[in-house]
Amino acid sequence: MNNFADEQGALIVVDLQRDFCPGGALAVPQGDAIVPVVNHLARQFAHVILTQDWHPAGHASFASSHPGRVPFETIEVDYGQQTLWPDHCVQGTEGAAFVPGLDIPGVELIIRKGYRANIDSYSAFRENDRKTPTGLAGYLRERGFERVTLCGLATDFCVFFSAIDARAAGFATTVVLEASRAIDIDGSLSGALAAMRDAGVVLRD
Ligand SMILES: [Zn+2]
Repeated sequence: MNNFADEQGALIVVDLQRDFCPGGALAVPQGDAIVPVVNHLARQFAHVILTQDWHPAGHASFASSHPGRVPFETIEVDYGQQTLWPDHCVQGTEGAAFVPGLDIPGVELIIRKGYRANIDSYSAFRENDRKTPTGLAGYLRERGFERVTLCGLATDFCVFFSAIDARAAGFATTVVLEASRAIDIDGSLSGALAAMRDAGVVLRD
């Protein structure tokens, strides 16, 4: 599929950062294997946006910020349940940088998320309190985009929440699975795929 002439469509590459790839603090299995696939996919789009997980040190989503807790535990916070993660994607660190080999010269916007100390943000559209907007929906609307295609890391967390929110914001939404990889904690991948289908997200291999 060549979308290059599609002026109403944008590709959103989610969190393709060093810490989410093998060797990083919160590695998604085979996370780096999608880099050439994403590079190729991006060349089929006239408009490309990147998201970047961007936490201050001591962020509330880090297990290290909660004495006695360990990564991948779930705790109750103001806005509901929050999984605790290893420290990752700390602002200005190597781990927060985009993965080496990512080669998309025409990126038009980099949207950062998770920079509020007390709220995590899986979605590129809304933070985990499900209220605080990142501004991405407004940007897309003002640019006249009607369709978004999502890929990146991880299929069952940040790509998943972004796809659900893209649908909720009224955008026709496709996720390219070949250009994404999952963490898959306790069946999270199958749950995410089912929920995306239910929300009307088109899942493409
Ligand atoms: Zn994060």
